[in-house]
Amino acid sequence: MSPKSRKARASVLRRKLHELEGQREGCLKELLELRDLFAASLSTVYRTCGKPSCACTRGQLHGPYYFLSIQSAGRNDRYHVSKEIAQRMQPALERYRTFILGLRQLRSLDRQVENHVRRLQRVCETRSIKSFTT
Ligand SMILES: [Zn+2]
Repeated sequence: MSPKSRKARASVLRRKLHELEGQREGCLKELLELRDLFAASLSTVYRTCGKPSCACTRGQLHGPYYFLSIQSAGRNDRYHVSKEIAQRMQPALERYRTFILGLRQLRSLDRQVENHVRRLQRVCETRSIKSFTT
């Protein structure tokens, strides 16, 4: 690669890196603004009761029953909760889901930033990392 094309390539990478850093900052800011999270998930279950004459044997299942799953220390505990509690918890559970998705996005942006820094290092070869990330 000629010095001129190397310089142009470095410029494109620098711009993209700057853009990625902006996205990362925005993502991080959104994550830090999330409050009142509940680290759990809610599921609904419909069941049969076992009585031979019940409508559930013909497909009209009982329920929904609400279960809250909480993971801690490698265990997954499941608790039956009332419909009212399930509804009241819903917003905090959704914020937690948003938080997890945001974390995934942040990790993806981190990998992209890292990737671009590496490419920029290859293009700039002898320069120090400081001189082309600023
Ligand atoms: Zn039944």
